[in-house]
Amino acid sequence: MLSRAAAAAGEIVEGGRGAGMTHAWLFTGPPGSGREEAARAFAAALLCPDGGCGHCDQCHQVLVGSHPDLESVRPQGLSYGVKQTRELILRAAGAPTQGRYRVILFEDADRATEAAANALLKAIEEPPPRTVWLLCAPAPDDLMITIRSRCRLVTLSTPATEAVAHVLATRDSVPWDIARFAARAAQGHIARARALALDEGVRQRREAVLGIPRSLTGVGECIAAAERLVKTAEEEAAAATATLNENETSELRKLYGEGSTGKGLNRGLVRGGAGALKELEDRQKSRATRLKRDSLDAALLELVSFYRDVLAMQLGAEVELANDDLRFDLDQLARSSTPEETLRRIDAILRGRERLAANVNPQIAVEAMMLALRS
Ligand SMILES: [Zn+2]
Repeated sequence: MLSRAAAAAGEIVEGGRGAGMTHAWLFTGPPGSGREEAARAFAAALLCPDGGCGHCDQCHQVLVGSHPDLESVRPQGLSYGVKQTRELILRAAGAPTQGRYRVILFEDADRATEAAANALLKAIEEPPPRTVWLLCAPAPDDLMITIRSRCRLVTLSTPATEAVAHVLATRDSVPWDIARFAARAAQGHIARARALALDEGVRQRREAVLGIPRSLTGVGECIAAAERLVKTAEEEAAAATATLNENETSELRKLYGEGSTGKGLNRGLVRGGAGALKELEDRQKSRATRLKRDSLDAALLELVSFYRDVLAMQLGAEVELANDDLRFDLDQLARSSTPEETLRRIDAILRGRERLAANVNPQIAVEAMMLALRS
């Protein structure tokens, strides 16, 4: 579908009709299925004179994110506001600098606020002739129906374990046994599998999370496990944002002339600088909150995969175990509990996820979950 559309897009550039191309696309699929990668490859196909050869300057610029006609948006906070969206729409309306297309790749488009989504809808309803919108979201339902109905849908599915292992082994030169382990443990999430295969720290964090079920022997242990999990998420978020924050802040200070003697500096500019700095700090805070929440959510999903394996063993289901390397722990829990108990535990984790998404204090939500996992 994408190749045909890219060929049609090429015809339009040559002055043809280009039936089969459309200006708004929605890429959906579960996390790790490669929504952004697919959208980016399609962007390269639209901007490359050879329909996405993968080798030329245009393709290269798209892949590294420096192409002047590709606008990539990745909301970093919990939501994407209407002001940012309006600015984006203005930039999207410009003519292509290289004469082909202007492409906007909007990752996590489901994070657009209602007002932002309405602004986006107007832009998609009346697009400039050479502007193409590529929206990415986990599922079509995550966007307003009015936006969804104007997009052509590209649905991606979770790749098979063997396919993920193959990518790791051939592209990243990971030994086959580690590639298989990582692909299984990541359950088809390619980026997660890659991190597990290549990063010792990520492997250790996984082991710590999956060691939780056997550590929940008393109430005190549950509280301690909750505290550890929340703290780890905070540390992960802090580590991921520290350098980023520092660079952004010093860039902004430079922009507003701080560090110079201040002589001749316009007072309005100084006041503007304080406002912009406050705005940046708010954005950084929102990003840290999101990263912390994402990290906690990933840990909770890891726990779900553990109990799902236990359930599979209890029921004698012939399915691949995600955590095959922990067979001993799985087996012990499978023998010492019933399938009903396992299901109840999975429910407790899913309820914990919902409460975190609803902004319940993480420590409280995770504690309640740990206590439910124990009993
Ligand atoms: Zn190319």
